[in-house]
Amino acid sequence: MWRLAVPDFENVRENLLAALTFVDGTVVHLLSEIDHSAILDIYAAYDDNFGQPTVHLEGDHLSEELRQALYNAYSQVQIGGRLANYRNQLKLLAELCPYCGYGSVTDLDHHLPRSKYRAHALYAKNLIPSCHPCNNLKRAKGGDSASAQFSHVYLGAYPTEQFLFASITILQKGIGVVYSVEPVASLSADEYERLKFQFETLQLNDRYGPQINIFLGGLRTSVEECGAFGAPPLKTYLAKAHSSHCESFGANHWQSVLLMALSKSDEFCSGGYKTSFGQHRVVV
Ligand SMILES: [Zn+2]
Repeated sequence: MWRLAVPDFENVRENLLAALTFVDGTVVHLLSEIDHSAILDIYAAYDDNFGQPTVHLEGDHLSEELRQALYNAYSQVQIGGRLANYRNQLKLLAELCPYCGYGSVTDLDHHLPRSKYRAHALYAKNLIPSCHPCNNLKRAKGGDSASAQFSHVYLGAYPTEQFLFASITILQKGIGVVYSVEPVASLSADEYERLKFQFETLQLNDRYGPQINIFLGGLRTSVEECGAFGAPPLKTYLAKAHSSHCESFGANHWQSVLLMALSKSDEFCSGGYKTSFGQHRVVV
């Protein structure tokens, strides 16, 4: 689970004009100065509310025609559309999907659903580069309370403190890993609810299973070599690996979180690692 740098594109007006004009110059919707100001105002309101839903952001004060034109114009952000470059610019904001932390970026997710918040269909800060499975699982989810919302990838108040934790169970054959979002001090009550809802909606405990196998497989040689000298050197190695992962990916990336949990697991470090490779199980 990651935050991304806030997109700061300067070509808002150009993109709106391109979106509302056919390639042959035919105007789909004439962007008047009043329309343009109204769009900038509702974008500013979006920022002020950190991208979380309010009735105002539904844009009922804008004309029906304008809202529908913006909604329809999103099709031009698709591959081959007039705004395909805009799509590429947004996708470049993330190397991997910020929701799951491992999927390739193939989609743009509307943080506030396009169907309800038509005025934001093209707004850069409402478009989150993501993988297809995450985008598909999220779909148009987004309720009035924090416990039914996603945290905002650009504008959410993520602390740097660890809030995602993993518990490890050494099984007869394999390892059980269960992640959970915990209400740490620097996480507001609302952000805690959002992150918990997001983690559950994206079914990350299930989806991380194969990723954990692949990740642990990559650590196997080092873990076995350190583990052969006992638990303390293995714990030291895992703690160092955790530290370098935190520097690269942050404390709340699933790999950092897993390394932290493994480094603290007496059972894993005292020999449990021997049966753990390639045998991840989700324990519920
Ligand atoms: Zn994803």
